[in-house]
Amino acid sequence: MTTNIILLGPPGAGKGTQARRLVEERGMVQLSTGDMLRAARTSGTEMGRKVAEVMDRGDLVTDEIVIGLIEEQLESHKDASGFIFDGFPRTLAQADALGQLLGGTGRRLDAVIEMRVDDDALVRRITGRFTCGNCGEVYHDETRPTKVPGTCDACGSTDLRRRADDNEDSLRQRLMEYYKKTAPLIGYYHALGDLFTVDGLAEIDEVARRIAGILDQAATA
Ligand code: AMP
Repeated sequence: MTTNIILLGPPGAGKGTQARRLVEERGMVQLSTGDMLRAARTSGTEMGRKVAEVMDRGDLVTDEIVIGLIEEQLESHKDASGFIFDGFPRTLAQADALGQLLGGTGRRLDAVIEMRVDDDALVRRITGRFTCGNCGEVYHDETRPTKVPGTCDACGSTDLRRRADDNEDSLRQRLMEYYKKTAPLIGYYHALGDLFTVDGLAEIDEVARRIAGILDQAATA
């Protein structure tokens, strides 16, 4: 029995944080197209350079590129106990492609979890966030600082990074892209009967509990 879910929500809704919990607690595989693209941009290739420009503007990378990345990952994790799609799909074309890719490997989508957060909170969350370059732990200047300044609590690394696109201009554009191209997926998955909504402004543990409840319910459906 495998469980495959999508975490859907604007930038800063907490998708990455919750995905990491599910990886630790349930051994699911997190497929974050944002992380894959950030790896591609440091690869020094022509494709990486183009992707970096698009990401820094806050625009979406082409469907073809991200669908290709997801296809590769599904191929290389054939035995996974379940996938968390984090930041994918972001367009209706990507949603259709995901349905086909999952169907082709005998998997199904169990739940689409919309993480709802208002825009003011997103700006606060995004402009203060930083992550550990070594283990991926997510922090925030005000709400979740490291215990020792400059050192990751989880792994001790001092490689703490801020994303190039976590500034106000890119964020405005990323939000616009979200409302124009990604938010229509909420209606699409609602119509398919797969949609669940959680309050992304609740405490991290509370959001995790609600997501766990949805997963347990989906597993028995
Ligand atoms: P994220 O880490 O999910 O916030 O993604 C960071 C950036 O990567 C986005 O602003 C887009 O430029 C790009 N990106 C990530 N996932 C996708 C996707 N599914 N489709 C198109 N662009 C994406």
